[in-house]
Amino acid sequence: MAMNRRDTFKLAGAAAAAVAMPSIAIASEKKADVKKTNGRSVVIVGGGFGGLTMAKALRKKDKSIEVTVIEKNNIFMACPFSNTLLGGLDGVSLDTFVGDYYQPAAKYGYSFVQATVTAIDRKAKTVTTTNGDFAYDILVLSPGIAYDYEGQFPAWSKEKIAEVSQACPSALMPGNEHIALKRQLEDMDDGNVIIVPPAMGKYRCPPAPYERTAMVANYMKNEGINGKVIVLDTRNGKFAKGAAFKESWDELFPDIIEYKGLTEVTDIDVSAKTITYTEFADADDEKGVSKTEKYEVCNLIPINKCSPVIAMAGIEVNGAGYAMMDGYSFKSKTDSNIYVVGDAVTHAIPPSGQTAIWAANRAAGQIVAQINKQVSDPKEGLPARAANVCYSMVGSKPEEAIMVTHTFSADPSGKLKGKGHVPKPKDGGGKFRSKGTAKATREWFGGVMRELFS
Ligand SMILES: Cc1cc2nc3c(=O)[nH]c(=O)nc-3n(C[C@H](O)[C@H](O)[C@H](O)COP(=O)(O)OP(=O)(O)OC[C@H]3O[C@@H](n4cnc5c(N)ncnc54)[C@H](O)[C@@H]3O)c2cc1C
Repeated sequence: MAMNRRDTFKLAGAAAAAVAMPSIAIASEKKADVKKTNGRSVVIVGGGFGGLTMAKALRKKDKSIEVTVIEKNNIFMACPFSNTLLGGLDGVSLDTFVGDYYQPAAKYGYSFVQATVTAIDRKAKTVTTTNGDFAYDILVLSPGIAYDYEGQFPAWSKEKIAEVSQACPSALMPGNEHIALKRQLEDMDDGNVIIVPPAMGKYRCPPAPYERTAMVANYMKNEGINGKVIVLDTRNGKFAKGAAFKESWDELFPDIIEYKGLTEVTDIDVSAKTITYTEFADADDEKGVSKTEKYEVCNLIPINKCSPVIAMAGIEVNGAGYAMMDGYSFKSKTDSNIYVVGDAVTHAIPPSGQTAIWAANRAAGQIVAQINKQVSDPKEGLPARAANVCYSMVGSKPEEAIMVTHTFSADPSGKLKGKGHVPKPKDGGGKFRSKGTAKATREWFGGVMRELFS
């Protein structure tokens, strides 16, 4: 049986509550072949938005710092802007999203190691990988997220999870899933596309499923595919950039997009291509009505949890595995030699690529100060206006987009906090979407890729 509605909310609550992870056994046997550090060695786990920004920033700030990036993939692929690939926007191809790890490593003078991290020994200050052990003075963790199918669908077997995750790719992590989802859309004749945003709780790029809804509808409209894009959401219409998305959906794709709030998926039959869900009348309705929908393509995005790399370090985490932070800094609450950036933090700032970049630049300053035995003020430069700017494409003829900006500040609770604003641009004629914002979307993404890879 799928998780019931109360459980869905419990899970979200658990994610918010701080709990001490059972401390991972710290095996600190001497590793003879590990290169000794000189007090200025930083190892970065994860070559995504946070990790690559950190490596470059450290080397730009202080060339005497030795930096090693450990990344399990051999090619970089960006998630931001990737919904435009599904939307069939002009000039967008897989090439738009990829980068090679060797180029920035050579340019900025850091080491890139392609390997998967399997253990972290905080006492010995070493990271174990599939390609040997690495010693560090400071460790930076930017490993991103993991999917929590088990938490959302506790009755599903391992085999069922594997079957559903391949047949209904969630495409929230870069790579194969995006390509699979695009292939499924291209193979489609007529029929429905079901999009299921993650249930309540923190997840990567909160607007992403709703931007995807617009982009898939855009693709269907332009290709003349007959069918609907149905969103099955646990929320009741309150989601990131909600008013702006709804305005665009209603005006651009009124016959294609159907939003169903207060719903909870209970089963998927990948052979019959049906999805079963419970629809609740209102927030007090505990029983709901079970319904089944036929689909051609299903994009099931499960609840997110933090990458297991954080647990390997045995540092304090919250219920969903995200790292507890030391005040407003990006240092772990447990270990002053471990920094965490990107989606893996518990700061109340949105999990986005732009935020990962902001955090990595900020944390790099804190690390350089620590290595050089100087004092840094984690509140410096706060509040930071427009520290996060997140765009979403909503249509292609003409190309239009919406946006949200966040100001980050030092919340009295001791955490960093983000406050969002969804503007109506001057060129939007009173609407949230505009051509100018679409141009800015392309410029933002191009700029980010250039920053990381040139
Ligand atoms: C569809 C979509 C649209 C988005 N749109 C936007 C947008 O418009 N704007 C925006 O700002 N953000 C957007 N995002 C969010 C953005 O992609 C993430 O927030 C960002 O990638 C987080 O950076 P990170 O460094 O924390 O994680 P990642 O970029 O995911 O990097 C983590 C890296 O760690 C590696 N790793 C994990 N485990 C290990 C291990 N054991 N050993 C070695 N390496 C490991 C992974 O392979 C990965 O490369 C979007 C996301 C999606 C899915």
